[in-house]
Amino acid sequence: MPLPPLTSPVPLPVFMPGMSYQHDAPPPPDAEPTPSPLPPSGGPGSSSSSSSFDFPKLRLQFHDLGHPGSTIFLNSLASPAQVFSTAVQNVLSHLYSSSTPAQKAHHPFHPPPTRSVTLILRSMTGVAYTTGIDLDDDHKEIHLSLEYVAGINPAARRAHEITGVLTHELVHCHQWNGKGAAPGGLVEGVADWVRLQCGLAPPHWKKGDRGAKWDAGYQHTAYFLEYLEGRFGKGTVRRLNEKLRVEKYEEKAFWTGTLGRPVQQLWEDYGKTLETKSDGGADPQDGKTAVNEATQT
Ligand SMILES: [Zn+2]
Repeated sequence: MPLPPLTSPVPLPVFMPGMSYQHDAPPPPDAEPTPSPLPPSGGPGSSSSSSSFDFPKLRLQFHDLGHPGSTIFLNSLASPAQVFSTAVQNVLSHLYSSSTPAQKAHHPFHPPPTRSVTLILRSMTGVAYTTGIDLDDDHKEIHLSLEYVAGINPAARRAHEITGVLTHELVHCHQWNGKGAAPGGLVEGVADWVRLQCGLAPPHWKKGDRGAKWDAGYQHTAYFLEYLEGRFGKGTVRRLNEKLRVEKYEEKAFWTGTLGRPVQQLWEDYGKTLETKSDGGADPQDGKTAVNEATQT
């Protein structure tokens, strides 16, 4: 039976509001400013290799232009359209194959059929979250708190932090989740892994901050994924994401099927590498001002 025009035959990712990201609290004022990322080439209409992706329509809404956060947002980003489209491009490039046709044929990766992403700046508690619209989950909404934007300090970090939050949320618009069964910590870890790869980590993230368990989420799981990428080769996180597309997540089958080992063993191996590193000398980051652990709700 032919499908109606707006129905996709591809399994849809489900992002419940409860799984959405509540971002870190802004760092203290004495945190070091970090440079804004340079937008890579590419984007809608670009002739880069990843332009073969179906690019979603990007929309921007302000629910209160009189809010200080709206002014700060507009003053911090020289070109919101460029930042938005570059972030989408980065997400697609990190999660899906964009290399040669031969490689694509050998390792086909399939982004979800996300057709539009609307960034909505509005007054709300928390930081940001992503959801699909009720009528069609292929249309995503990213809600970003105006209060959060207004509170980013120092001012030099605003563009970097906004872009980082946006990139994280855009991962949720384009990642798979094991047919809704993947642990929230893994979903959040993939989002922060992409943010990390884009050079958009906030200053309080610290390599080696392992967390209590592998799926603690956010930067803890992101650094674990970075370790796996280094150990098993570039494209490992893409493979995990692809596995989350084709199968319902079940822990043992997922990890042994992709990396040949239970996740707990991988987690312990990761911990040993950190112990070895800490035995070998101080991390240059250790001397910097301690930053409060992020507030995540
Ligand atoms: Zn998230």
